[in-house]
Amino acid sequence: RIMKRKTACRRDIDRLNAPFLSIYQSLIPPKEEKDKQEKLLTILRSLVKKDWPEAQLYVYGSCANSFGFSKSDIDICLVIQNMDVNKSEVLLKLAETLESNNLQNVQALIRARVPIVKLMDPDTGISCDICINNILAVINTKLLHDYARIDGRLRQLAFIVKHWAKKRGVNETYQGTLSSYAYVLMCINFLQQRKPAILPCLQGMEPTYSVTVENTECAYFNEVDKLHGFGAGNGETISHLVWAFFNYWAYYHDYTNDVISVRTGGTLSKQAKDWTRRIGNDRHLICIEDPFEITHDLGRIVDKASIRVLREEFERAAEIMQHDLDPCTKLFEPY
Ligand code: ATP
Ligand code: MG
Repeated sequence: RIMKRKTACRRDIDRLNAPFLSIYQSLIPPKEEKDKQEKLLTILRSLVKKDWPEAQLYVYGSCANSFGFSKSDIDICLVIQNMDVNKSEVLLKLAETLESNNLQNVQALIRARVPIVKLMDPDTGISCDICINNILAVINTKLLHDYARIDGRLRQLAFIVKHWAKKRGVNETYQGTLSSYAYVLMCINFLQQRKPAILPCLQGMEPTYSVTVENTECAYFNEVDKLHGFGAGNGETISHLVWAFFNYWAYYHDYTNDVISVRTGGTLSKQAKDWTRRIGNDRHLICIEDPFEITHDLGRIVDKASIRVLREEFERAAEIMQHDLDPCTKLFEPY
């Protein structure tokens, strides 16, 4: 269905830098919003302290990985040292505490795949989900955040890609398209593979940070201040990178054989991971290796129908980036 071809980027591509950067700027959360989040977090910490004096609250996901838009919900993880706690009991007790302290829309979803308590703070209008002991999510959030500090182009590219995915309806895991987390990993891997590279492979370097969670070793080089200027040898600008990103996912990625892997900074073969056929509900039609839980394919939710939708959207975006007079409008048109 897809013809591979070598495309040269349009000559006026740099004309699109200013409009892409202004879209990026408009999506960044303003400082007042970050302050409100901090205030709410302080309140939640003091409430949690009463019932679980030893426990800690960590923010993970888009509010902590630096890829969050304005008006995002906060994802919070309550870490209780005893890993064998009964999560349902904790969540129900937490819900009771929150409700009696005037937080609104409090709901304990104890049967969900990731059990959580939902709440809304009436003073700020901010909504939160709180889960228990989801430490790997806290650590992969830190990895993403550390990558973002190395080269500013990652945050620009990931904002544009997430914005596109949300507008085009392909950021809906319950409909078989990809999570924001998966899109950010695609952007990191893409920048690791530019020539010269714009991002290093932090897990391929001598570790300066290491924790073991649920038998999974999470180790990488996290002294990213020392990597400032890593991508300076590559002068590609945001508009060129957006063009190349969509071109890669539309025409160059080998969906039949390849797995993208931030952990190794490159691609692996599906064969090597034994991801060549459907196992249970995992179809492996687009393969994105989780950096720490390496048996997890973040593309596993994609099915026969949604892979078509995704690939058609990548092709549409690539075509617009190549030919359209006003790509910055057309790219984000609601589907
Ligand atoms: P959004 O701005 O759309 O809310 P987000 O950054 O919060 O984006 P999500 O995809 O909602 O991204 O995921 C939130 C966090 O949950 C991720 O940063 C990651 O830590 C964790 N996470 C999500 N999906 C997975 C997964 N399949 N495996 C491991 N961790 C995951
Ligand atoms: Mg989120």
